[in-house]
Parts: sequence; structure tokens; C-alpha cells
Amino acid sequence: MKKIFGSPSRYVQGMGVLKELSKYTNTLGKKPAIVVDPDIAEDMLKIVSESYSGDETKYYVEILGKNSPRICCEETFNLLRKNATKAECDMYVGIGGGTTLDVAKAAAHFEKAPMISCPTIAATDAPCSALSVVYHPNGVWDYHLFLDKNPNYVLVDEDVIVHAPLRYNLAGIPDALSTYYEAATANAANVDNFLGGKHTVISETIAQLCYDTIYAYGEQAASAFKVHAVTPAVEKVIEASTLLSGVGFESNQSAASHAIQNAMTAIPSSHDFFHGEKVTFGILGQLALEAWDDEEIDKYCKLCIHLGLPVTLAELGMDNLTDDEIMEMAKLACQEGETIHNTVVLVTPRVVFDAIKTADELGKQYKEKYSKII
Ligand SMILES: [Zn+2]
Repeated sequence: MKKIFGSPSRYVQGMGVLKELSKYTNTLGKKPAIVVDPDIAEDMLKIVSESYSGDETKYYVEILGKNSPRICCEETFNLLRKNATKAECDMYVGIGGGTTLDVAKAAAHFEKAPMISCPTIAATDAPCSALSVVYHPNGVWDYHLFLDKNPNYVLVDEDVIVHAPLRYNLAGIPDALSTYYEAATANAANVDNFLGGKHTVISETIAQLCYDTIYAYGEQAASAFKVHAVTPAVEKVIEASTLLSGVGFESNQSAASHAIQNAMTAIPSSHDFFHGEKVTFGILGQLALEAWDDEEIDKYCKLCIHLGLPVTLAELGMDNLTDDEIMEMAKLACQEGETIHNTVVLVTPRVVFDAIKTADELGKQYKEKYSKII
């Protein structure tokens, strides 16, 4: 049986590591194309400029979304490739959230160039994985682009991350938990992982470690994120959300949690919510779909509600959905190729519709029991 485990070549996490960017790009080539989130471009480019001692001829900068949709879509990464080639760049660096990193990874993949991920939030699996999630220019999920390799370096600057808006770092917490819930069911079903092989012992262990770390330190890390503090709990949660989750999901598999989040992207009102926030509800849908026990659902809802994460459709801007619209969502979640089929239970649109309705009701009930503490 072929087993495959993937990971970035090197993962560096610490205070101020973005200032060392030039040291890492110098090991890979001559000139990086740096794509950066527009909201943080000024601050990040100051750090980059410091790293290159003010010599801006040594790198090319593209602000995400300046001349193309601010989305990881073909138009955006093809424009980056064109501009980077014109500027004679030989590697790509992404500085920002999941979208920016996915754009840089996709461009590097097609150009067969090295790539460095510099996440500025601990909210997605994008930094470490060999996958870019591609959307239509209107923001609706399109397909998974599987890349030949994981990033060469992942530079996680803790100082940058704790200064991101709290909501981003909180959204990374359920996304990290989904790594465990989805791996558990996908591995039980013995499906191939994202890398085209079976899971290894270490990938299974990583998923478990991700779960243990988040439940042990998630709440105290959230408090520290709120006041922009770096504590040992924050360091552990950043590692869980970025490295353990990033490596864990692709060397195991995704399942219903992400398929439900993908289906939600077809509903325009959900676009105001982050990936991890939609995954929060997606996990609850998966727990209902697969009949995880009441104790697990209680544990999960308690943490999410304490952190103010959305466990109901209403909290995700979908309070007025009709049953027909929920059925449409269920059908989308069940479309061919979706990860919802990586499970041991029978999946049909009707079953998923019932799970979504039940998850919504569970969320409402647990909101009576627990309240937000962050
Ligand atoms: Zn995710």
C-alpha cells in the first residue's frame, strides 16, 4: 500500500522572522516576486525593505487585487506570473492570508519556481500545503489545484500574527480542529489523502496532536490574541493552526466539514464570513452527519461558543434560508469530487440536508447553555 506524507522543506516560527526574509530568498534564487495583502501592504513592505536593507531593486512587489480580482482565481495568479516573468523573478513569496498564499503558490507551481509562505494570520491551512483553493472571480469555490510540491520555506512571524485582527486568529481554531475530525472519518474510510497515497502513522498522530493542542490551549491563546500578546499557549496554537493543521489535512484528508463550507460559498451572504468561520458550522454538520457522541458535540460547541464562533446558520448571515435553499446547499456539498464522500456513512443530499438542519438546531441549543467569553 503506497503511503505519502508531505510537508514544507523548513518551517520557521518566532518573533520577527519576517525580517529574515532576504536570508531565505537568497538560498533559492536571485529575485523574488512578492505578493502581499493590500490591507497590510504598507507595514509588511516596511519589514521587507528592512530585510533587503532598502534595496528595492532586489525584489518585485505585487499588491493582491490591485489589477485583478482579490481572489485566488486563474486571472489573479496568471497576472502575477506575467508580471513576475517580466520583472525577471525566479521565485515567489506570499505575505498575507490564505488567498495571497494560494495565489503565490499557484504562480510558483506553473512557473516551476521555489516559493516561500509568510502567513500574517493563524487562520488557514494555506501556508504549509501543496494545494491552492481556486475560486471563480465572483468568489464561488471552483476547484482544488494540486501542486507538485509544498513551499520551500514557511516563515511564521509571531509578532505579525498576534497583531492581526482577533477575528482572523480565532477563525483558525476550528479550521485546525477540522483536521482531526475529517482525518478521523477519512482514515476510517481508508481513502487516499490529498497527495494520492494512504495516510502514514505520523499524519494520523499530527491530526490528534492538533486536536489536543487546540482543546488544551485554545481559550487561553484566544485571550492572548485579543491583547496582541505572544505567550507559550499562543505559540502552540499558532503551530497547531499553521503547521499541524496544514500538514495534517493534506497528509490525511478532508471530509464533510470542508464540503459544507465549500457549499456555503455559493450563498452570497456567506461571503462576509471567513473560511474558518464557515468551517465552524461545517464541523457541526459533520458531527451530526456521522453521529459523533453528545459528549464530543458538547465539547466542540462549548469551545466555539466561548470564542464567539458561529455555530448557527443565522450567525453566518444565512438566517433566512428556505428548505429549498438548504437542499441546494446539501446538493452542492454532495457534488462529485467533493470531500464529503470521504466518510464511512452513506451520503446523499437528503442526509446532508438533515445534518445541516440538525447542526443549526444543535448550535441554537448550545447557545442557551454556553456564552461568549472572549
Ligand atoms: Zn480549512
